[in-house]
Amino acid sequence: MKCEIIAVGSELLTPWRQDTNSLYLTERLNQIGVRISFKTIVGDRQHDLVSTIATGLRRSDILILMGGLGPTEDDLSREALAEALGVSLRRDGGLVAALSMRFAAMRRPMTDNNLKQCDVLPGSIVLANANGTAPGQWIDTGFEGHRKIILMLPGPPKELKPLFDSDCMPRLRGILPVRNIATRTLKATGIGESAADALLAPIYVTFTDVETTILAGHCEIQLQLTCAKRSMEAAQRRVNELASRLEEALDQYVFSSDGDSLEQIVVYYLELKQETLAVAESCTGGLLAQRITSISGSSRSFLGGAIVYSNDLKTAFTGVPPSLIQTHGAVSAQVAESMARGIRENTGATLGVAITGIAGPLGGTDEKPVGLVYVALSDAKRTFSEECHFRGDRENIRLWASQKALDLVRRRLM
Ligand code: AMP
Ligand code: MG
Repeated sequence: MKCEIIAVGSELLTPWRQDTNSLYLTERLNQIGVRISFKTIVGDRQHDLVSTIATGLRRSDILILMGGLGPTEDDLSREALAEALGVSLRRDGGLVAALSMRFAAMRRPMTDNNLKQCDVLPGSIVLANANGTAPGQWIDTGFEGHRKIILMLPGPPKELKPLFDSDCMPRLRGILPVRNIATRTLKATGIGESAADALLAPIYVTFTDVETTILAGHCEIQLQLTCAKRSMEAAQRRVNELASRLEEALDQYVFSSDGDSLEQIVVYYLELKQETLAVAESCTGGLLAQRITSISGSSRSFLGGAIVYSNDLKTAFTGVPPSLIQTHGAVSAQVAESMARGIRENTGATLGVAITGIAGPLGGTDEKPVGLVYVALSDAKRTFSEECHFRGDRENIRLWASQKALDLVRRRLM
């Protein structure tokens, strides 16, 4: 059973408007076990619309067409669908009467162009639109010998959403076999997309009933697992089975098996292990603290920290000896470790973390290039640092530095 969404509107092909409706519809359809096979955005041109719809009719069983149902010249969905199906539109007298009354009630004259909103396809069921003038249509028809369900829905989200929920969801439930979709998101950091796939592909290809998608995001990769089955329990079981196998293969790179962010995990484990954390940040200028404090409840284990951008403040707030900075430079393992130890001792936290590096684009040398970052962790027993070489622009390097620091804490706690 293939389902496809066609979003109609030239504005959706500009940089200023997005097709948000399809996200809404996808979420809803997933709830009743329908996955989306194709999604197309097409402008308000009759020829393009007809060819897009014709392609959809050939390859999908359920076609959802939205937008282009209004009264203006560029609203062409009805005409295009009729042409693609090779049928003629019929003006519905009942709809004309209802629309005339609606205008009368609003005390506005009804211009003739409104009448085309009353054109329906043969055999269609009209879906009343409580929030607008253009009704939707439900068409259960045949195309080249196959049954096709076609939904035509108004484009404005405040019209489409209630109409879809009240009229389309129950109808779809009535004709579709019962399917339940289970999903799970694993997140990993410190490993690249291709390295992860090399490890994981041999496992997930054997789970032919679970769809696995690898997404590379900001400083992390996400594995999205989806399985559709008659029973939710069976679908969930398969997703969980695969998740455990993938987690095992990715080992310490996985930080979340339920979609949580790295900062959420860090805050969770700090509290669980009854540890407290303080940070000393140079090149990230507070980004690490910002990420931690974005999590509600972080106050129970995050004490705070210092932004020690200048050498003087590294000494004043985190007790780094000036001679250490002179000998090794502010961006060095020795200074990072001294900062981590210093902030831990000064605040009484059980864990201290420090970041010092060159975020660029200026300030790099052959010996210490842009992207060189030292991240240090200190507890009562030991203090150590890691040398990192990040690429990208200033924002990216700073983000990676904060990610690395969070990950050091996570690994220390887990
Ligand atoms: P239409 O039904 O084509 O007249 O659409 C009218 C309004 O709905 C316009 O403001 C569109 O930008 C908006 N709209 C149409 N399609 C979508 C969509 N797929 N996602 C979000 N907004 C949409
Ligand atoms: Mg439009």
